[in-house]
Amino acid sequence: MPDNIDVAVEISDLHLERSIRAARQPVPVGVAGECETCFEDSKRLIGGRCAPCRDRAQKRRR
Ligand SMILES: [Zn+2]
Repeated sequence: MPDNIDVAVEISDLHLERSIRAARQPVPVGVAGECETCFEDSKRLIGGRCAPCRDRAQKRRR
């Protein structure tokens, strides 16, 4: 069934493209300071938020 193979190749191409794009994203450099969400001191704030707060925000979005 050639149709099924075409779809599989398409999906695999899309996946590869997405993986490459994700790998290209620069890793944000964290800064030390106080988290603006939980006000805990963190050595690695990104966007003003500590890692647990970023995790929580991401989970909420999904
Ligand atoms: Zn926090």
